[in-house]
Amino acid sequence: MSCDKLIKKIEKLELDFNIARIKTAFEYAAAAHEGQKRFSGEPYIIHPLEVAVRVLDFHPDEDTVVAALLHDVSEDTDKTLDDIELVFGPGVRSLVRGTEKLSHVRSRVDEPEIENLRKMFVSMASDLRVIYIKLCDRWHNMETLKYVKPEKQLRIAKETMDIYVPIASRMGIYKIKASLEDLCFQFLNQDLYRVLHEQLESYTKQNVNFINKEKETLKKYLQKIGYKCQVSARIKNIYSIYKKLKKKGKTVVSDIYDVYAIRVILPDEQEAKIYQVLGDIHRKWTPLANKFKDYVAVPKPNGYQSLHTTVVGLGYGEFNRPVEIKIRTESMHVQ
Ligand code: MN
Repeated sequence: MSCDKLIKKIEKLELDFNIARIKTAFEYAAAAHEGQKRFSGEPYIIHPLEVAVRVLDFHPDEDTVVAALLHDVSEDTDKTLDDIELVFGPGVRSLVRGTEKLSHVRSRVDEPEIENLRKMFVSMASDLRVIYIKLCDRWHNMETLKYVKPEKQLRIAKETMDIYVPIASRMGIYKIKASLEDLCFQFLNQDLYRVLHEQLESYTKQNVNFINKEKETLKKYLQKIGYKCQVSARIKNIYSIYKKLKKKGKTVVSDIYDVYAIRVILPDEQEAKIYQVLGDIHRKWTPLANKFKDYVAVPKPNGYQSLHTTVVGLGYGEFNRPVEIKIRTESMHVQ
């Protein structure tokens, strides 16, 4: 077992880390967890290594990555926080300690005050870096939850949905939020998850060419009138689709039109043109009334910024299918 994967990613992100120190932390954790196994049967060290790799997405400082590697050492091995401090310093100690403390915030099935738990979680993590480690920790644990006993699966999935998903959402960390939601849903409502998963797969298969055509049409139009922008498409995660279907009183994925959205991303220096792009899109294709949202002027509480609109006439496939378009700049498009 080596930490090449971690080192490669650090180099790719051009983070100015002391690589020798990272390697020392990895070897320290590997030695401490020696002989321990995950429920999957794999050596335990793959877990802290995976957490450290994921936490890099936040472009953290070096201590955060060291702490991610060591985050289960003092609770699960005979090394103590004092031992860790001796080798890696007080900064790493306090991050590991903070991560441990958060592991003790547990939801109970009879807990009526979920909101209090969330507040407690956030206030206990006096340091944002601790939340990054903890989110990546839970993310990897959820991905390997299938190896855990069924009754524990349900408790962990519920706790994740109650505490971790809202926190990721409030912090605007879309990728982890969507991934956690789908993982939880898979355990909390297995049958429905399976049905929607299948429906979404066949929807994607049937529509991928149409979506690409819509993307290309929009891109060509915007480039022709002088914008330098990227155009991409994203399909909603299964849990978002489930919520949407419930809200609309529908049961079939293809009954909702915003299963996917096309995103127009402008370079930051063109931020002032964002409303102009919207106007040009509306001149070419008819917008649906009441579907326009301006999260640029009025960002969501988690800081999310984007213009949303839905237009008719751009859609291929079914006749006149409305298409949702989100317009933003590169720095608004972070996660
Ligand atoms: Mn862990």
